[in-house]
Parts: sequence; C-alpha cells; structure tokens
Amino acid sequence: MMNPTDTSFDLAASALNLLDCGVIVLDAEHRIVLWNRWMVSRSGRSAARVREQSLFAVFPELRGSRVEAAVLAGPGDGSTRKVSNLEGRTPFPLREAGSFDGTRIEQAIAVTPFREGDEQLCLIEIRDVSGTVDRERHLLEHAESLRARSYVDGLTGIHNRRYFDMTLERELRRAHRNGGALSLLLMDIDSFKAYNDHFGHQQGDACLITVAQALAGMLKRPADVAARYGGEEFVAILPDTTLAQAAGVAEAIRLDIAARALAHAPAAVKDHVTLSIGVAAFGKDGLNEAASLIEAADQALYAAKRGGRDRVAVAGTQ
Ligand code: GH3
Ligand code: MG
Ligand code: MG
Repeated sequence: MMNPTDTSFDLAASALNLLDCGVIVLDAEHRIVLWNRWMVSRSGRSAARVREQSLFAVFPELRGSRVEAAVLAGPGDGSTRKVSNLEGRTPFPLREAGSFDGTRIEQAIAVTPFREGDEQLCLIEIRDVSGTVDRERHLLEHAESLRARSYVDGLTGIHNRRYFDMTLERELRRAHRNGGALSLLLMDIDSFKAYNDHFGHQQGDACLITVAQALAGMLKRPADVAARYGGEEFVAILPDTTLAQAAGVAEAIRLDIAARALAHAPAAVKDHVTLSIGVAAFGKDGLNEAASLIEAADQALYAAKRGGRDRVAVAGTQ
C-alpha cells in the first residue's frame, strides 16, 4: 500500500473524496478497506462505520446479485467487469445526498480486481446514471410519439394506412379537378393465417416485409403509392392510370410475387406465396369518393378470393 506519510497519498485521498462516483475497495475477504465520501453521502454510512466489515454484511441484499457474482469471480485476468443492470439498476441502497427516504439512485457499476503488493483487492465503482436513465426514457417516449404520428408502417417500412388515407383524398381531389384517371389496387396475401400457423408469426412478419418491399419496388412512377392497409393487406394508388392499365399493373404484381417462389404452408392454395388483387378506378360507376372507391376495390378483391385466389379481379366486371 502507499506510504501514509507520502504527500501524494494525501493528494490521492483528497481526489478520491472529490470524485463524483462511489469508490469502494475490498480486501480478499470482501472487507471494506476504502469507502470514499460519495459513498458516505449516498449511503448514510460513515467510512469508520463500514471499515473492516464485509460488504455483504453492510448490504445483505447484495447476496445473490450480479454485484456479488462479479466480486466473487475473483481476480480472473484483472479486467474490469461491468455489472449488467438487467436485473435492476438499483442494487445498492443509495439515495440522493441528504435524502435517505427518497427513491434509490440508478447505478452503473464496474468491478475491477487488482493486486497491491501481496494483497488481492477489488475496486468497485458506482456511478449515478439516474439522469441518463431519465433522458433515455424521455427519448424513447419521444420516438414512440413520433412513430405514432408518422406515415411509415413500423413493420414493413413502407407507407402506412394514415399516409394512404391522406394521399387518396389528395389524389381524388386532383383527379376531380383535372378530370384525370385514378386507380386503386387492394391486395391481400392468400391463406396467410395458414402461413403463420405453419411457419410461425416471426417468419410471417418477415414474409410481410418481403412482399411489402417488392410492392414498393414495383411501382415505378413517382406519384404511385404503395402502403400497408393493415394485417396482410396492401394498397396501391395509381394516379393517371385507367382501370385497364391498372389491371395490367395488378397482374404484373401478382406474377412478380408468385415468381419469387416464397414457400407457403401445405394448407395454402399454392405451394408458394400468392396475392389476390382487387382493382377499381375513379369515375367508373360514380366511384368518386374515397370510401366508395375502396369499397369497390374490396368487392373486386372478394371476387378474386371467391374465384380461387392467386388472381386479379376488376371492379364492375364480375
Ligand atoms: P385469405 O386467403 O382469405 O386472405 O386467408 P387469410 O388466412 O390470409 O386471411 P385471414 O384474414 O383469415 O388471416 C389473415 C392473417 O394475417 C391472420 C393474422 O394473424 C395474419 N396477420 C395479420 N397481421 C399480421 C402481422 O403483422 N404479422 C403476422 N405474422 N401475421 C399477421
Ligand atoms: Mg386479409
Ligand atoms: Mg389473406
């Protein structure tokens, strides 16, 4: 150990007491040999009171914790062990200085075994991360609220239903003004319940991502919009596209998805993942409102399902 008469010893002791983190040093029997002022003010225990006592006698609740495991692991290669806070961020009963009945401060703990002469010792550093944890929580909440207000589907990364609703209204107004064409595709993965049942929900999610990305990639015109309508249903808005042209796009999409040969469940109509698609267009049969256009596309989709799935059906032709 350092020579107590050495002035650098006093300097080190002063610096230790000024540190903005808890410092504990244990001997080979886990007795406390050093306890800095930060520990005094956060634990309410003076250095004189804890000195020579076992850490686990002073804080019996550390028994069975990851802090104990890190200390008991012995010298090992001497490297620092960060104590995982998965079990909780408040292993030591420490509180804000001067408030011994407040909530515990949240802690990041590192344990470092070391040797000093013949002695095997163990350094424990404790940092107050309460502020960091609050900030983290705040950022997470902020991200959540941004997501809730966003136009991106959280799973697939393509546009979401909110974006679709907004865009359809806008494109309908434009089609009204210009007397232009506007078509809608409503697409639904066939027998997707069977897919989930056979491959599991996680692979179901992966399949949804693949199909969504394929759809988005296939719609080439800048004004075209592909969105996740909900569950395993997708929509596409095709401005300046007639019903006949839209039927062609729908068929190309159907063929593209089928050609990917994504293995399907044995209970499905085909051995690969397929889409049924309903097509409807603005202006046809007085379909000039969003709700009636969607309803027409939905009817067509239903006809495609009834007709055997893996097919395109066009509104007004069934
Ligand atoms: P159909 O050919 O008539 O469309 O049959 P289907 O099984 O696809 O239709 P149904 O509406 O009965 O089932 C849709 C399934 O899609 C059920 C639901 O669990 C699944 N699904 C919806 N959203 C998600 C999702 O986000 N992830 C996963 N993995 N599955 C989803
Ligand atoms: Mg469906
Ligand atoms: Mg389906």
